[in-house]
Amino acid sequence: MSRAPEQPRAAVIGWPVAHSRSPLIHNYWLDLYRIPGRYDRIAVAPEDLAAFIAGFAEQGLIGCNVTVPHKEQVARLVSIADPETRRLGSVNTLWLADGTLLGTSTDGHGFLASLRQAVPDFHACEHDVLVLGAGGAARAIVAALQSASARRIRLANRTAERAQRLADDLGAPVVPVPWAGLPDALAASSLLVNATALGMTGKPPLAVDLSPLPSDAIVADIVYAPLETELLKTARARGHRAIDGLGMLLHQAVPGFERWFGLKPEVTPELRRLIVRDLAG
Ligand code: NAP
Repeated sequence: MSRAPEQPRAAVIGWPVAHSRSPLIHNYWLDLYRIPGRYDRIAVAPEDLAAFIAGFAEQGLIGCNVTVPHKEQVARLVSIADPETRRLGSVNTLWLADGTLLGTSTDGHGFLASLRQAVPDFHACEHDVLVLGAGGAARAIVAALQSASARRIRLANRTAERAQRLADDLGAPVVPVPWAGLPDALAASSLLVNATALGMTGKPPLAVDLSPLPSDAIVADIVYAPLETELLKTARARGHRAIDGLGMLLHQAVPGFERWFGLKPEVTPELRRLIVRDLAG
């Protein structure tokens, strides 16, 4: 009797990895488009990461997502597919091409696609933006806003040297501003992005006075647990258009799925409801 062919298999690796919603997203698309395949979670401890990557081709995986804390380390272990990701030094999506493991970062794409879906009339090239944070996610978002030709990208972070380093790495039009200078930076911005961990479950809320922000400015929070952060509540109460972090999470998954399974999936309201229910449960 001949054995059934193995289904294509992708996964997310992280440590811990139980919190990742990526399997829900990708398995939803596999079901929706009736594509044979599966997407798993694989817990990989930091001390096992190099061996896992070295033996990737033998694991029966066609590719994987990479989540905390491995994004930077994996970027040093695989071939980077594009110059933007090389600049970032962080990857979240891997795939095998003729036996070579390639990596890219789709976080910035996810942020911009979410922004485009939520506020299609917003064109970064016409605006000054303010990004709070200088960690991995902020890095990807600032680079994406730079590639979208944002007029000026002001960057503030609790640890000022980290914002300075990011601005030095990426160059114009990224300008670091001190946290104490936020009122002026807010007054000049059409888009405020919280890319810090503040506001997520277990962390204090982001305590920033939004009153200097122009009334038509957009407020985006990339935190998605909880979905409705104190920042977004305050922004909505002041009449700002507000964007939560789930859109970025869903859209960053699109390029990986397309590469592994050959079809560009859609970020549908039904998918969003599925993840919202899971986040609430
Ligand atoms: P990270 O590299 O650890 O960076 C954390 C950032 O938050 C740094 O700028 C850090 O400032 C700041 N921060 C942390 N605690 C703070 C505090 N008590 N006061 C002031 N600033 C504080 O993390 P990351 O990967 O960039 O992730 C940041 C957030 O984005 C997390 O909540 C994560 O869940 C979320 N995220 C969302 C998506 C999505 O798809 N929606 C994707 C990636 C990440 P310092 O430099 O001063 O430490």
